[in-house]
Amino acid sequence: MNGIYIHVPFCKSKCAYCNFFSLASKSKIKDYVKALKNEISFRRNYLDDEAIRTIYFGGGTPSLLPISSIEEIINLLHHNYNVDSNPEITLEINPDTIDKEKMLSLKEMGVNRMSVGIQSFFDDDLKYLGRRHDSNHALQVLENLINVNFDKITLDLIYGIPTLTEEKWNKNLDIFFATGFSHLSAYALTVEPKTILGQRINKGDLQDVSEEETINHYNILVERTKEQGFEHYEISNFAKPDCRSLHNSIYWSDGKYLGLGPSAHSYDGNSRQWNVSNLSQYIKLAGKSDDCFEKEILTLDDKYNEYVMTSLRTSWGCNVEKIKLHYGIKYADFFLKNVKKYIESGVMLINDNNYFLSEKGKLFADGIASDLFL
Ligand code: SF4
Repeated sequence: MNGIYIHVPFCKSKCAYCNFFSLASKSKIKDYVKALKNEISFRRNYLDDEAIRTIYFGGGTPSLLPISSIEEIINLLHHNYNVDSNPEITLEINPDTIDKEKMLSLKEMGVNRMSVGIQSFFDDDLKYLGRRHDSNHALQVLENLINVNFDKITLDLIYGIPTLTEEKWNKNLDIFFATGFSHLSAYALTVEPKTILGQRINKGDLQDVSEEETINHYNILVERTKEQGFEHYEISNFAKPDCRSLHNSIYWSDGKYLGLGPSAHSYDGNSRQWNVSNLSQYIKLAGKSDDCFEKEILTLDDKYNEYVMTSLRTSWGCNVEKIKLHYGIKYADFFLKNVKKYIESGVMLINDNNYFLSEKGKLFADGIASDLFL
């Protein structure tokens, strides 16, 4: 399965914890759309005309793009790529950047999955995170999404926020379950030192994240989503049956994807490529010059490490026969030798030839994966 990711690097303002490439200014939207359209045509052969199952508008805040630009982009993708007749088209939205009319227009042009960045339904949490929207915006956007009746809707929530008590976390989950939406992405708050949040915590202006509280929230999340019939199919992702994000599943299943827009990453099975994280440079170079991106050819070690890292994040886990087949017996032996201690300690489980993390193990995914790297 293959997909196309489009990075839209504009936000109304910068959230305090944000580590993505995005700018708090809309002044270059027109130039960006023009450059993106050049890049769409220029890279039409990247995936060798293989079928495209998913299109994902991420960011940034894609809902800041004018409706006419989103429609032009979708049409141009259909024109230049072998896009499925009914692709999954996801668009990330923020509560204060979209109204019901805009949602209806998006639905009409084929957007069938909405990803809404709520993070919390409480104003003090949103203030801590430096989000622009408030709890009223958050509830209003839910109402609109329900009325417009999108096929698939996913909500983003953040836990581990120092202002988020256990009671409030339960309430956030209650509100999500009450919507009947089929997908939840719930992330532990991580504080990157260079972000506004990192600097404010460092100065002592804001309370730091507590690991103990984060683990407590995670345990509540895992238990309550299970009770409600959600599958915990990736560390931060929970879905009702048949409602997984197809696009994100491509990343976790070694699928190929083309990334368009500044800072977007691409993978064709043999190499990785990433665009410049600079909007002016992108506007100047996109679709015109190879200076727009950097490229790395992956070694067999890189491919094995990548497989271990991504598959361990999922509920289907790492398949040792696949390791043998794709990378060779040396890699399978190394994996089996090193995985033993994790099986014995209960942070990993086995089902046939599949090795996957237990719920407890998911808390240590990065450390375990890197220990299994060659
Ligand atoms: S809306 Fe998302 S991308 Fe934009 S600043 Fe906030 S976290 Fe970053």
